[in-house]
Amino acid sequence: MKYDVIIIGAGPGGIFSAYELMKKKPELKIAVFEAGYTLEKRKCPIDGDKVKSCIKCETCAIMNGFGGAGAFSDGKYNITNDFGGTLFEYIGKNKALELMRYVDDINMSHGGEGTKLFSTAGSEFKKICMQNKLTLLDASVRHLGTDINYIVLENIYNEMKDHVDFYFHTPVETVKVLDPGYRVIYKGGEADCDKCIISVGRSGSKWMENLCKELNIETSSNRVDIGVRVEIPAVIFSHLTDKLYESKIVYRTEKFEDRVRTFCMNPNGIVVNENTNGIVTVNGHSFEDPDKKTENTNFALLVAKHFSEPFKDSNGYGESIARLSNMLGGGVIVQRFGDLERGRRSNTKRIEEGTIRPTLNATPGDLSLVLPKRILDGIIEMIHALDKIAPGTANEDTLLYGVEVKFYNMEVKLDNNLETNYKGLYVIGDGSGVTHSLSHASASGIYVARQIINQA
Ligand SMILES: Cc1cc2nc3c(=O)[nH]c(=O)nc-3n(C[C@H](O)[C@H](O)[C@H](O)COP(=O)(O)OP(=O)(O)OC[C@H]3O[C@@H](n4cnc5c(N)ncnc54)[C@H](O)[C@@H]3O)c2cc1C
Repeated sequence: MKYDVIIIGAGPGGIFSAYELMKKKPELKIAVFEAGYTLEKRKCPIDGDKVKSCIKCETCAIMNGFGGAGAFSDGKYNITNDFGGTLFEYIGKNKALELMRYVDDINMSHGGEGTKLFSTAGSEFKKICMQNKLTLLDASVRHLGTDINYIVLENIYNEMKDHVDFYFHTPVETVKVLDPGYRVIYKGGEADCDKCIISVGRSGSKWMENLCKELNIETSSNRVDIGVRVEIPAVIFSHLTDKLYESKIVYRTEKFEDRVRTFCMNPNGIVVNENTNGIVTVNGHSFEDPDKKTENTNFALLVAKHFSEPFKDSNGYGESIARLSNMLGGGVIVQRFGDLERGRRSNTKRIEEGTIRPTLNATPGDLSLVLPKRILDGIIEMIHALDKIAPGTANEDTLLYGVEVKFYNMEVKLDNNLETNYKGLYVIGDGSGVTHSLSHASASGIYVARQIINQA
């Protein structure tokens, strides 16, 4: 088999690169190899009834398959250079924003029209945050919602499936350098190509690391974000979420001067399990469909942990902490904020007596046995800081689910074309360590597709 371009991974990075190539150079022969399944076959077996917790499927339906890790996400496309990755460092701030807007246009023309674009520009909350030692970051946020995000992906796939060769349930084992071109070795065969775009996301981080070792591509890694998911009655944050939908707020702790930030806010949403390499952590979703909305809002509070030499395994550190919570709680642990401050575990009775109905069936426990003191202190400080702009955040019944870990892929050494030291071998999206979001990953896919189009 011989292709002009092979893309590894059908997450947002891979999808948008294939889409742009198909649209702008229809004569190119393109293949996408994906470890997971098609969108409609992606079904997590956890039903809360017969299957209560992760049974460690061969490929995780939440993380792998068409749409990648973003398929069942809240579909928040943040159009900003302030967070979500450092793509701008490679391609410039204006270009990065232009490509994120271009991705937004594609989403709008594939079922996303009618969804809301929120913006922090000119918001009165900036001042209120500043007055309380908090910083509100700038962004425009397109909120597709889990349901519309699915429809958009379905429509994009239907448009591509007759023009691009998709190989599902086909994990790529390795990539060999030919002269010229590349050989992609997958389960049961191999295919050659002139150019290869690798977009394996976070779930492909270990694979990416091994490939970089094999091909002598330089990498670096030093960051992991660790924290909890907070669940509160939606009314407590409604003045912020109604206007901004998602507010990215940063706090610098007094004790350690660490940065704690809000992440992935889901108004009227649900808290969910997430499985990364067999470790169960916590995340959140929300829906556009009014029937699926809950009375709660959830968001993560994450403390950024940077390591310096000689320690290199920041993700390993995060995994060990997540494993501790899995060991104690069999999965995710939930605790009332009041119990945490009082130094006692939550139990089923205390959670049931609380005023907040948890949206995730997690094990009541004690997060102080899991999270390092420095991280826990930072989270407690931030909850009290948020209480000043959204009174009620620090209520006794506020629920904290742990642990939430944001793993960062190691950064692959790339030039400004997102190309490795091998001509025609590109690494994009979260797998490159350059992006950590839907909008940045998608924009990186368009960017590389255009490089290839210009050379063809
Ligand atoms: C629950 C959840 C909610 C999220 N919500 C948001 C949000 O609202 N907004 C936001 O900006 N970001 C969100 N994110 C993050 C966002 O999903 C990612 O940043 C984005 O999906 C990255 O895109 P990607 O294409 O780089 O990688 P991915 O989406 O991870 O896709 C990579 C694909 O490559 C495949 N793959 C991996 N290894 C191989 C291999 N060896 N061979 C073949 N295929 C392989 C995987 O199966 C996967 O499908 C969320 C993530 C999760 C898990």
